[in-house]
This record gives sequence, structure tokens and C-alpha cells, in this order.
Amino acid sequence: MLNLVLNFALVFILGILLLLNLLKLNIPIIYFQIVSIVAIIPVAIAAYKSIRQKEVSVDFLAAVALIFAYIAREWESAVFINLMLSSARIFDIWTTRKSDQLVKSLLKYRPEKVKVKVDDHTIIKDVDDVAVGDVLIIGRGERIAIDGVIISGQASIDEATLTGESFPIVKKTGDKVFSSTLNTSGSILVRTEKVAGESTLAKIITLVEKSSLKKSKTVKMVNTFAKWYVIATLLGAIIIYLITKDINFVLAILLVVCADDIAVSIPLAFTVAVSTAAKGGILIKSSDVLERLSKIDVFITDKTGTLTTSKPKIVKIETFGDITQKELLKYLLAAEINSNHPMAGPIVEYAKIQNLKIPAITNSDETPGEGIEVLYDGKKIISGKMEFLKSRHVKIEPFGLKTIEQYSLEGYSLVVIGIDGLVKGFVVFEDEIRPSAKSAIKKTKELGSKLWIMLTGDNKVVAKKISALAGIDIFEANVSPEGKLKYVENYQRENKEKTVAMVGDGVNDAAALALADVSFAMGVVGSDAAINAADVALMNDSLERIPQAMEIGRKTRNVSYTNIAIWVLTNVVGLVLVFTHILSPTGAATYNFLTDFLPIFNALSIAWMKKS
Ligand code: ADP
Ligand code: MG
Repeated sequence: MLNLVLNFALVFILGILLLLNLLKLNIPIIYFQIVSIVAIIPVAIAAYKSIRQKEVSVDFLAAVALIFAYIAREWESAVFINLMLSSARIFDIWTTRKSDQLVKSLLKYRPEKVKVKVDDHTIIKDVDDVAVGDVLIIGRGERIAIDGVIISGQASIDEATLTGESFPIVKKTGDKVFSSTLNTSGSILVRTEKVAGESTLAKIITLVEKSSLKKSKTVKMVNTFAKWYVIATLLGAIIIYLITKDINFVLAILLVVCADDIAVSIPLAFTVAVSTAAKGGILIKSSDVLERLSKIDVFITDKTGTLTTSKPKIVKIETFGDITQKELLKYLLAAEINSNHPMAGPIVEYAKIQNLKIPAITNSDETPGEGIEVLYDGKKIISGKMEFLKSRHVKIEPFGLKTIEQYSLEGYSLVVIGIDGLVKGFVVFEDEIRPSAKSAIKKTKELGSKLWIMLTGDNKVVAKKISALAGIDIFEANVSPEGKLKYVENYQRENKEKTVAMVGDGVNDAAALALADVSFAMGVVGSDAAINAADVALMNDSLERIPQAMEIGRKTRNVSYTNIAIWVLTNVVGLVLVFTHILSPTGAATYNFLTDFLPIFNALSIAWMKKS
């Protein structure tokens, strides 16, 4: 703020001085001298800072240019140049603000105070004092402060702050709600599952902040280039001065080339891109990712929970022998209660409808992509796919095996349950493809990706059905988590020149996600392992976000390239104008100032991209 005020004051004083001079009011030269000496202070500070960081910056060039002006006793020019420089600084502050705002606008959605239900009364707490497990009361029109689960009531929740889509979703008891989202109807009780600092929104903000700090390859390249450019210009200027002894001429050259546009506009483009994506529910973890996003050739994707909805429908529950369905469900519930697998949710929900008590299980042992084992009620329960049960020596009657094979052949996904070494029944699921899958895949192909490969731990018939519906080119079924990792590894080895993307949701995808050139995780239903391993988290689990992310990547690349072109062009034109003596030092300063706007606006235009 102080910075802004000082620069405005400077612009004001410099402007007045020039105006009075223009009105031929015969201002004593001493005023010009004082003002231009004062005005060089901010330039000198910036130049000194960059030198201390062993970087040669444009501020350094500007400082040199000003010193040249003083030596030439061009006081009027010096005042004018300073006017341009401080105006540019104001513009710069404004641009930085603008890109910060994109992130900060998210912060304002976090309530400071919350209502906590303690026994039968309500107390008001600071959001940072809320512990995991506290029960929050969230009324109509209030924002949810911390991620948690609804334990009572039902409400329409607007998740636009996270997903960029503002139509309310009805959420009931048992559903997850996220910090910063808005309760548009009804009153709910939410049991917190995190503390404020670890909530989804807090994670987004740190991610975006981090990503703008971490410099991408292009930005680094541009910075190195700018450094050498400055050095070359300085040497050139010295040589020209030695030859021509025309200090005004050298001054004009320096002023034309000391454009800071390139050094500012390209990093700016990356920051704007990351925050624009975040506002649309696409969390890009580093600006490096943006470059790879623009050129994805091949997608490798998971099926369950990624291409298909995170809540597959239960079609039927079959039992073998004398066990009742309710009893089977009791054991299934014990097995699945701690699992994040997409098939666990519907089982737990179904059991709740049947009024089954939720057991406290502490010994569940999950094998990602295979199944789970727990001890409960003195019995050993194993639930998962048939192959998994076989590998754990669970026996099955020939008749049972036949029914299971029958369902698999008809294209259903199954969860089989074994109790004390014997298969006692299974749950039949209908896997539903996400409505967005097909069109999203099509759009990525329009954007240049050529191939979609699906790898699933599920059976072949289901895999075939889903891949046909989604427009997948190649699929592999019965793939273990290691199998997914190996596949990505081999594919990358055999296709070194291709950019390989991976999309997934589960723990079983995490290793493959980490290995791929670019990876996407389903951000809401996805397991923490997948979200942490991926480069991009899709906050509303919509696959449509993938082509959108690719488009943001492309736009950023295009903006960077056009900005480099603009910069080369304006410098060349400027130098021609100086060498033909059309531009005087003041003319050069004006030219520089005016051409600065172009690339900055170009970078900011990423935020104005229309959603497709
Ligand atoms: P995908 O690779 O398509 O995401 P998964 O590997 O997650 O599929 O699951 C494959 C199969 O493994 C499921 O169809 C299911 O039978 C079984 N399975 C995996 N995890 C669990 C679990 N927690 N409970 C029950 N079954 C499971
Ligand atoms: Mg999955």
C-alpha cells in the first residue's frame, strides 16, 4: 500500500513539474535535479536487490539509463523517464494485486467464527479452535467452515467456490461437505473431520501460492535469457558510446530495450493460469504442469470411481447356505466401514437403511484394488474380488462359483464375501459411467490427444462394456496396482517422445499417477494417496475438467509465445526508430511504456478465457 502511495506521489510531482515546464513557466533547473535524484531511489533499490541476488535485471538497465541521463545533464528527459518508470511500477503493483486477488478471493469464503453444538447448547468458537470431531451448526445462508460429514439434517449446498459450478447439490446425513461451500437451504449438523488449516480450501490456497513460487521451465528460461540480454545491451551501449560519443543516442537505445514486459508477463501468465484453473475447480500443483498439459498425447485411465461414478448401484445381494441377507450385510458392513473404495460407500449406506448398527472396527487390512480382511465377532471376514478370496484360500461351492461367473459374464462388478474360509455370498453392482466421460474424452481428442487406454482391476466383461460406452481405444482388465504402474512405466519407455497422462481415484492408482508425465486425480471422492500423488486434482470429479485443463495449458503456452514475439518485435522496431533518429530519449521512454501494456494484458487475458 505504502509502495503504491509513494509511486502515485512521485507520478504526481513528476507530472506537475513537466506540466509547468510545458507551460513555459521557467522552472529553475534545480527542481528538476532534485526531483530526478529522488526518483532514482526506488529504481536504485530494485537494481541493488537484483544484483545482490546475482541477477542482472531490467531495473539495473533503467538505473544505468538514468545515470546516463544525469551525466548528459538531460534533466527534463530524466524527469520524464522517471515519470514513465513510476507509472510502470504502479501498473506492475496493480497487476500483482490482480493475480493475488484471484487466490485471496477464495479466502474470504472461510468463516472466522463458527457455531459449535456442545450437549444441548451452542457456543461460538474461532474457526481455528475447532477440533476434529466437534459438531458445527450450519444454518441456511451460512458457509461451511471446515470439511466434515453431515450427521443430521439435509440441505442444498452450493459448491461453486471449489468446483466453479453453482448449482446446489442436495446433501443428506452421511454425505461429506467442504469448507467454503454455501448452505442454501435447511439447517444441518456437521461433524468435522479435519482442522481448519487442513481443509480443502486451505489446501487449495497453499497449492496455488506454492505453484506461483515454484518457477516453471519456460519462466526460468526467460529469466536466463533476460539476464544475458541485459548484459549484451549494456556492452553494446558502451561500445556505441565509445564510437559515437553521443550520450543521447545511447540513452535512447537503453530506454527502448530496458523493457520489463518479458520478465514480468511470462511468470504472470503462469500465476494467472493456475489461479484461474483453481477457480474452476482444477487444482494445478505446479506451473511446470501447465506446459505438459498443453501437449498430452496419451491418456491412461482407471475405471472404477474415475470413468464410472463414485457410487455404483447395488443391484442384488446373493447369499449361500443358511445365512440371512441381513446377517451377511452385518459382516460386509464390518469389512467395508473403514474403506474408501467406491463400492464400500453403497454397501455402508444400504446397511444403514437396514438399521444395522455401525461396528467399531480397528483391524481392517485393505489390499488396494483387491479387497479387505477384518476380524469381527470372532470371525475372519474377507471381502473383495473372487480372485482375492481365492488367493486367501477362501473355499467356494461349485454352484456358487458358477453363479458368480454368470454375473461377471453379464457385465456386473462383484464384491464377494468370505466368512471363516467359506464364501457366503456376494453383492452385485451396476457400474454407471459418469455422464461427462464420453464427451470429455472426445474433447481431449479434439485438443490433440490420440489415444485413451483404460486399466482396471475389475473383470473383462465390465471393462469392455464401460470402455465401449466411454469411447476408450484400448483396455486391460484384472490389472493389479503394480500392473498399472508397470504399464505406465513400459508405455513411457517405449514411447519416449510422447507425453503420457494418467487419471485415477484410488490408492491402487497412486504409484502410476506419480510416474506419469501429467496426472489427474478425482479430488472429492479420490483417496488422499491419489490426490497427493497427482499433478492436478479435479475438485468436482467432473472429467470435463480434463479438456479444460488442457485448454488452460495451451492458452498459457500461446500467451508465452506471443509475448516473446511481441517483445522481440517491439524491441526491433524501437531500435530501428532510435537508429533512424526518430525517437529521442523521451520518445524512447514513452514507446517503452506504451508497449509494456500489451504483453501484460495478454497474460491477464487467460483469466478472461470463456468456459467451453
Ligand atoms: P479400478 O482399477 O477399475 O478402479 P479397483 O481395482 O478399485 O477397480 O477394484 C477392482 C475390484 O476389486 C472391484 O470390482 C472389487 O471387486 C474389488 N475390490 C477392491 N477394493 C475393494 C474393497 N474395499 N471392498 C470390496 N471389494 C473391493
Ligand atoms: Mg478406481
